[in-house]
Amino acid sequence: MAKQRTLDALFGQSSEPDAKKPRLQKEEDDEVEADEHIDANAAEKTAESVVKNVVSEPSWKSGSPIQYATLVETFSKVEATTKRLDILQYVTDLFVKVIAHCRKTSMECASENLLYTVYMCINRLCPDYEGLELGIGEGLLVKAIAQSTGREVIRIKKELEKQGDLGLVALASRKHQPTMFQAQKLTVPSVFKQLKEIARATGAKSQDKKLGIIKRLLAACVGEESKYLIRSLEGKLRIGLAEKTVLVAVAHAVILTSLGAKASKTDKDELASILESGTNIVKAVFSELPSYNVLIPALLEHGVEGLRDRVKLTPGIPLKPMLAKPTKEIGEVLDRFENRSFTCEYKYDGERAQIHGYIDEQGQQVICVFSRNSEDMSKKYPDLVVQTPHCLGQGVTSFVLDAEAVAWQPLHIAQAERADATDGRLLPFQELSRRKRKDVKAEDIKVSVKIFAFDLLYLNGEPLLNQPLDERRTKLKQHFVPVADEFDYAIHRDCQTTEEIQTFLDESVASGCEGLMVKMLEGPDATYEPSRRSINWLKLKKDYLSGTGDSLDLTVIGGYYGKGKRTNVYGAYLLACYDENSETYQSICKIGTGFSEADLDAHYATLKPLELTQKKGYYDVGDAKPDVYFEPRVVWEVLTADLSLSPVYTAAKSMIDARGISLRFPRFLRIRDDKVPEQSTAPEQIAQMYRAQAVASKKQRGRDDEDDFW
Ligand code: AMP
Repeated sequence: MAKQRTLDALFGQSSEPDAKKPRLQKEEDDEVEADEHIDANAAEKTAESVVKNVVSEPSWKSGSPIQYATLVETFSKVEATTKRLDILQYVTDLFVKVIAHCRKTSMECASENLLYTVYMCINRLCPDYEGLELGIGEGLLVKAIAQSTGREVIRIKKELEKQGDLGLVALASRKHQPTMFQAQKLTVPSVFKQLKEIARATGAKSQDKKLGIIKRLLAACVGEESKYLIRSLEGKLRIGLAEKTVLVAVAHAVILTSLGAKASKTDKDELASILESGTNIVKAVFSELPSYNVLIPALLEHGVEGLRDRVKLTPGIPLKPMLAKPTKEIGEVLDRFENRSFTCEYKYDGERAQIHGYIDEQGQQVICVFSRNSEDMSKKYPDLVVQTPHCLGQGVTSFVLDAEAVAWQPLHIAQAERADATDGRLLPFQELSRRKRKDVKAEDIKVSVKIFAFDLLYLNGEPLLNQPLDERRTKLKQHFVPVADEFDYAIHRDCQTTEEIQTFLDESVASGCEGLMVKMLEGPDATYEPSRRSINWLKLKKDYLSGTGDSLDLTVIGGYYGKGKRTNVYGAYLLACYDENSETYQSICKIGTGFSEADLDAHYATLKPLELTQKKGYYDVGDAKPDVYFEPRVVWEVLTADLSLSPVYTAAKSMIDARGISLRFPRFLRIRDDKVPEQSTAPEQIAQMYRAQAVASKKQRGRDDEDDFW
């Protein structure tokens, strides 16, 4: 999934004017800074280079297909640098050459050559959903190199062990290659078509056929071609070229070739802005319809300006789904959404299912199910293909639903287990993952699947991506109907306060969900942003909330007078850990969440008699200022979302930092009657939790970055 890692930055577009900038926004800004943003000087350099390419004769004959050597030359330059802008420049140059020279023959020729060149650059044969992969084992490649160079397999394997790169081994082996006749020079279209032929070869003789093609290709290689050919065949180009760079280079090349000689005469700031706005269009369109097969011909024919009207979300072609940013605590949700219109939905623990429906040219209804990575899952879920039409309202002819497919215990089985059951029940994700991925037969299916739809992206010929979620949701409810044990809408509630979100979260977890998804509901930030991990969707998972792993046992040493509904009780409390070395209680947090009204009454009754007239000398409270202090008698178990360094509290002071550590968004779990205050969690344990959390959050971020498409 590494290829999917980096493009997000380019899609960073949220311009949240809010003065209160939440941390998530900051992260997003950092990403944007790290992208291929092209400034005026870079634009000027690009323009100069374009003019050179457009007017100069390339190394291959005008109008003829692009030579494989030209592509390899670019690969080699890209591999030799780590500078992102240089890489972008090399790839743009290559695409400009292809367009400028192939279009002298025809636009179709330019389109075909550019398409194949792009696929070779991203090392793919087709869009993901077509599922065509090379699938060549290392053994076959070693054999092909051995046979085409007359070397022994064992020697090649030894060299591979030493070098770790079969491409380099192939290159080094070339000096052994018999050169009986000069083969025709390889071109990009011919190499690409032969790679496809290899991928399509099936059946008894397929290995021989593949071997034959690879040997023929190797025999025709010159210079460094064999190195990159073998790497392409292995599926690892290893030159540090991200797909996002390729897409930006396509946009730049199309814009610059259409400007032609004018490019170098245009003011460099203006040129930078033309390139940027054109690239944004290409990115937006590609997110909606991620198929170079459609994008490239449309771009060459109609230019960037004509793209939006012609290339749109199309049922049958999966778009990259919108993803959510992780949050560690409910407070972070409110930081982002407070005073905005937002909604909380159950976060179901199943598999993302993008369900497309349309009527094909023969008038037949087609239903396809795509995974989060745009693979066609219809073979894994033949039952969903059958079920989906049951939930369509009247007049629905084409649609794209965004949903979660969840393992489900149907009502009749639930009733056999519990006579009072009124509905089926969600089952854990593991039940679903037991299914085979391909060729599942309806009669073999043991675990039922229910769809929980949370979005509608397309309806009857119209993409809905630019509509706000509340409108999309209304349409979803108008045009799709719940079907028992088969289809329902994701359960949602519009919460306002931390307590309401907490209650809904607890309910979702009790029903077998992972937590909540919190989404912007109205306004321009509530549109569907394909392929983005957006701050307009936040995920709140139960295991993030108990992210520190353990709960803490803490002594109640102070109280804050309550306000409003809590006027007659304490509204919040000061908690402390206990340091047995210094025999002090060190303050760690103020807690006001997790208490029912009954709890608050009971705590008041217990603690009021323990009120002190002055603070104990062995209370090290730092800058915490409770209204009253208590005798150290009561221990509570508390859960926290997060630990953070604090200038106010003193727990574990000087162990990590000159500051103490405090709990963020602590929640009361229960009274620990079985513990005395001296058995409260120790500062060493708190410091340890803080360190463990730093490692865990780094790992989680890494995981989230990895599966981010861009
Ligand atoms: P994660 O895999 O932790 O990044 O969480 C995102 C995934 O949660 C999505 O890709 C969906 O498969 C899943 N999910 C479950 N319920 C919802 C929902 N209500 N809205 C969006 N995604 C959901």
